[in-house]
Amino acid sequence: MTQELVRERLELIVQAERIETLSVDDLVALTRREIDEFLPDGVHRVDPRSGDRILYHSSRALRPHDNVPEEVAAIPERRCVICQGATTGVIDVAELSEGFTFINKNLYPVLYPFEREGLASGLHLLQWTSSQHHKDWHNMGLADRVVVLERLAALEETLLSGAHRFGSTDREGNTGAVVIIKNYGHLVGASLIHGHQQIAFSSVMPRHFEDNARFEQECGETFADYMLRETPPELVVADYGPAVLLVPAFMRRPYAMMLLIRRTSSRYLHHLDDGELAAVADGWHDGIRAIRTVMPRTGREIAYNVITNSGPGAGLYFEFLPYTQEVGGVEHLGLFVCQELPERAAATLREIVR
Ligand SMILES: [Zn+2]
Repeated sequence: MTQELVRERLELIVQAERIETLSVDDLVALTRREIDEFLPDGVHRVDPRSGDRILYHSSRALRPHDNVPEEVAAIPERRCVICQGATTGVIDVAELSEGFTFINKNLYPVLYPFEREGLASGLHLLQWTSSQHHKDWHNMGLADRVVVLERLAALEETLLSGAHRFGSTDREGNTGAVVIIKNYGHLVGASLIHGHQQIAFSSVMPRHFEDNARFEQECGETFADYMLRETPPELVVADYGPAVLLVPAFMRRPYAMMLLIRRTSSRYLHHLDDGELAAVADGWHDGIRAIRTVMPRTGREIAYNVITNSGPGAGLYFEFLPYTQEVGGVEHLGLFVCQELPERAAATLREIVR
């Protein structure tokens, strides 16, 4: 059965067609009007050893899940809440060759949608890749994937424009970060199977952002510059010209990949030109397609995360992190044991992507 969110249902929940027509103040007002039941606990702590930030959010344990294996759910045809339009108000819609892509508010935001002393504040939104239930990066055409990225970039730019609204909590006085991630599979935190990205502005900066900034300060180049220079050809999965998909030499989990933008002065998605956006759209397509192909071969259920590294020190790069191996005890000490060689993983991935 093909499920999709039809236009008539969408019209009932549209609050804006273009994110560019809204300010961050508008987004905060729309969010506060709608989201009040499942707010975070309002507590965040820092691990003084690593600088890792921990947010607390008890009510997220109550989220509805439709993203569990069929045999566990034992329901032959599950109804998708997104396809039914039983979701929050929509703030951006763009046509695709079939259906549309749209952005709305996360009903269970990990951040407080208003500034308050000591709280991790910000906005937490969702981008649904397509209104059609089974369409996502791996099976959509290039032109549609570029539209999805353009809308993501427009949202990123809007969120950054209002960064000052949520104050700052990091040591260098940076005003937070825009977080862009994708979770797929219930094993790695996705509660709904309908393909989506999560976008948040967070006043609390994730540790990776500080790591990238420190790397540039200490090494005099961005992390992307370093990777593009140091990675040997046998670890390259695909070269798109403006972007390169590769396996890092220090791969921690089998088939983990990075997609790096060659013009390392571009710090954000909304800095990318048309050629770079097309290269990123191809990199996401190939990276996710490869993960979806290789995981069943190794007897693993498909589950992966994509994370975006942007801002100072990053250049701009994405990490594709398939859940190909559990975390062992010694790994919690920071000593990782990976069950595949990076060179062999890259060769397998090249074969799939070709
Ligand atoms: Zn759906």
